[in-house]
Amino acid sequence: MIVSFDFGIDLKEYADRGKNNSFPTLDCCPNCKCISHGNLHRNGYYWRFGITEDLTIKIPICRIRCLNCKANISILPDFLIPYFQHTIGIVLDLIQEYIQKRKANCSRQLLRFYFVRTIGN
Ligand SMILES: [Zn+2]
Repeated sequence: MIVSFDFGIDLKEYADRGKNNSFPTLDCCPNCKCISHGNLHRNGYYWRFGITEDLTIKIPICRIRCLNCKANISILPDFLIPYFQHTIGIVLDLIQEYIQKRKANCSRQLLRFYFVRTIGN
């Protein structure tokens, strides 16, 4: 399960802070809705890429595990879209360029991929 969270910073700042970002503590499990804080444990990090026009960098994504329902919860910075490497700003710019049929600063295949994934055929 993925929870989007506004860290109030961009990809570069998030990457610079790394594991020292202010990761949220959840009031309840988003899966089973249990309220006990003792059931939600930090469960390490996984690393994924974040890509902007001029930056490609690996960043840590904080994982939390619910001991009640065994769900794994990932805290994804809100400038990223689940399962997309480019930031949301880049994806929206690419889609706009695709719709307006302007020449984009990436391959037509990538433009088509993002268009279909977000808008549909
Ligand atoms: Zn749970």
